[in-house]
Amino acid sequence: MRRRRTQDSLVTAARRAGVTDERVLAAVAAVPRERFVPPGAESEAALDRPIVIGSGQTTSQPSLIASMLAALELTGTERVLEIGTGFGYQTALLAHLAAEVYSIERIASLAERAREHLAACGIEGVEVVVGDGTRGLPDAAPFDAVVMSAAAREVPAALAGQVTEGGRVVAPVGPDGAQTVVRYTVRDGRLQDPERLSAVRFVPLIADEPGSG
Ligand code: SAH
Repeated sequence: MRRRRTQDSLVTAARRAGVTDERVLAAVAAVPRERFVPPGAESEAALDRPIVIGSGQTTSQPSLIASMLAALELTGTERVLEIGTGFGYQTALLAHLAAEVYSIERIASLAERAREHLAACGIEGVEVVVGDGTRGLPDAAPFDAVVMSAAAREVPAALAGQVTEGGRVVAPVGPDGAQTVVRYTVRDGRLQDPERLSAVRFVPLIADEPGSG
């Protein structure tokens, strides 16, 4: 019972935030967020708020995640890269929205939790990789869409070359504390047509030091 109410309230929050993409709303209705939060935080899962997941990270506000995923305008046939898996909630939503999902997380313990959460929900067709997402995921490229869930001053240069012509990149960019979610369309291997979607505050995208892995 609790689960149904959790998902219903998150669908309401996403609608309030302006999400109209019915596929995204159906994904929010299908994924039990309380399975993607730390033990003891389940009762917070129905609230449209970020939740601390450990290792200094948070799982983002669900309505913001829904808005960012709506901005990708997925139809179900796409290969998608997510940068910053965290506990896997957004990954689970993506699994409902795209054909193939790759997700990269730099903290191995978070990636392991995310894999467990996804498996426990019976979600397949998702590959969670431990690594530095600032390099993209060249072995699995090209992608039709990329979503970053950690903020950077700019989208890492490596990504544009890993996206198909006409593909989309949605990312929080800008200086600390003043980031904006921007949607780019990739044309001629470059990020073009930036569209600013909303002002946000994200945990930072952290690149590995050269040579550390
Ligand atoms: N999308 C998830 C998690 C958001 S937290 C959700 O909302 O549920 C952002 C995540 O990005 C953190 O887990 C952090 O470890 C990860 N991250 C930060 N920099 C990264 C990088 N360079 N490569 C991969 N993951 C990164």
